[in-house]
Amino acid sequence: MASPSLIDAWLDTFAPRPSTAAIGGALAGGAFVQHERGIFELRPTVVDQRAVALVISVGVHGDETAPIELLGETLSRLEAGLVRLGAPTLLLLGSPEAVVRATRYIDTNLNRLFERGREGMRPEQLRARELMTAVDRFFSAHQGRARLHLDLHTAIRESLHPRFAIEPFAATSTPAALWNALHGAGLQAGLRQHAHSWTFSHYSRHYHEAQGFTLELGRVAPFGANDLAPLRPLGAAIEAWIEGAPLGLDARDGEVAMPLYRVAREITREAEDFRFAFADDLANFSEFPPGALVGADAVQGEVRVGDRPQRVVFPNPRVELGARAGLLVERLD
Ligand SMILES: [Zn+2]
Repeated sequence: MASPSLIDAWLDTFAPRPSTAAIGGALAGGAFVQHERGIFELRPTVVDQRAVALVISVGVHGDETAPIELLGETLSRLEAGLVRLGAPTLLLLGSPEAVVRATRYIDTNLNRLFERGREGMRPEQLRARELMTAVDRFFSAHQGRARLHLDLHTAIRESLHPRFAIEPFAATSTPAALWNALHGAGLQAGLRQHAHSWTFSHYSRHYHEAQGFTLELGRVAPFGANDLAPLRPLGAAIEAWIEGAPLGLDARDGEVAMPLYRVAREITREAEDFRFAFADDLANFSEFPPGALVGADAVQGEVRVGDRPQRVVFPNPRVELGARAGLLVERLD
């Protein structure tokens, strides 16, 4: 087995023609091994009973570079011995090929393919299966341990909450203490999904009873143009979990210290002439009063806000007919 450094191995995943050799080496507190391109497992020598089985994924969308830079900083500190490995950890570069090409995806949106039993040989379909297999092996090797999967993204549009956590819909609910840990890591709001969506974080929550979240961490920008300062509290939290910090779910539950939202309704595009009643660059979480017009098309007529104020998240009027064009969300009291 070759023995390059973790950083060399990580950077090699971004090479147009990466090494295909099995790669592994030593780290402070343990060792790392690369199973497939961009799939790194960190194995501590000694594991505290309360340490989490931790999955961190970045680059599921290839043009979302800030999380890749943030994780790179953590890998540098691991390699320098400033962070000491104490938790079983899986680090995933979602779509190396899309990152190399600086594009959101090669062929189709990877982050809706994480469902068992799907077939297909297109690039993202193949990669989704590799990533699901890696997560399956990892969690099954760490039965009985608390599980956390953070899938790190950046968003296309502005947001009134620049950094927010999406809780996928699943049987596993999120304790207040974990919402507050995310708030302490710089997240400003939480959004609870209302239906299954076959994202990567949903995969871990749905199939593995993990605490899985999709984290939206500000605006998309190319490598070198990201301001990492607002993300460093998250980097510090990830490093604490890598070192073996517990999830802290035994802490007293209490109040959630940041706003939480639930999905009140999905807006779908029913006809070719679908349009929103607001500007294209509307910020996520922009609020509309009860009864306000938010969109319309020839089939469904007008789409209006219900009896309570609602906020628009992820609007996209150019989706295929019948697809989700946006969400109306309400604040949970
Ligand atoms: Zn994304």
